[in-house]
Amino acid sequence: MANIWQQTLHWTPTVQQQVQFQQLYEFILEGNSQFNLTRITDPEEFWEKHLWDSLRGIVSLLRDEGDEGDEDVISTPTPPTSLSFIDIGTGAGFPGLPVAIAVANSTVTLVDSTRKKIAFLEKTRTVLNLTNVKTLTGRAEEVGQQPQQRQTYDVALIRAVGTASVCAEYALPLLKQGGLAVIYRGNWTQEETKALENAVNQLGGIIELVDKFTTPLSGSIRHCLYLRKVAMTPVQFPRPVGVPNQKPL
Ligand code: SAH
Repeated sequence: MANIWQQTLHWTPTVQQQVQFQQLYEFILEGNSQFNLTRITDPEEFWEKHLWDSLRGIVSLLRDEGDEGDEDVISTPTPPTSLSFIDIGTGAGFPGLPVAIAVANSTVTLVDSTRKKIAFLEKTRTVLNLTNVKTLTGRAEEVGQQPQQRQTYDVALIRAVGTASVCAEYALPLLKQGGLAVIYRGNWTQEETKALENAVNQLGGIIELVDKFTTPLSGSIRHCLYLRKVAMTPVQFPRPVGVPNQKPL
């Protein structure tokens, strides 16, 4: 897949990163035999939906400005400064684990409400020797109100956890001012962007970019929404467990 990484993300994994991706795949297959982690087990599908998709959402953060659009430059995905990421509702570790593998100079905190998923991720971290990964069991609604977590992250990632406004309510409180939330979506429409604006504004954010792209193997349409935190999130957000879902902003 080295060519496709390079052509689509202008990035090529090192040998060590390739080994870690392979170990991750094998470890997830093994974990799947004990309890259901992911329905995606075919190798190419795993590569596209779990590895490639995870990194597609953050690649724009990682490129040096001079590299933009320059196909000849192999940019290593190393942000100029170390960033702190949080992956909310990470499940089997997506998008957080591929990000931690690709961006070794940053820290990635994986959050999930299911204890056994976090237990699995702790084993994965050890097997893959990912010293930049932290884990946290909890609901996003509670984590976002913890003083040691709130307003402490540069980037919040969230994929397949809820509607976009729910994701925004989970993510924005956790960001420092100036931080970025990346919401991974499949289909997305302009009407949805309009509808989301009000929720994002209430949370101290703006919709900075809606990025539409096609996946490289199956040609599926996907979107990433980039929300910038431009003001403090009011203290009442995130609301108590379940409320964001029941009464979306
Ligand atoms: N992000 C992963 C998993 C998506 S499935 C991926 O894209 O593959 C959704 C996951 O979010 C589940 O593991 C579930 O336990 C977790 N989750 C759902 N609501 C949550 C909440 N309020 N706080 C924390 N985790 C949550």
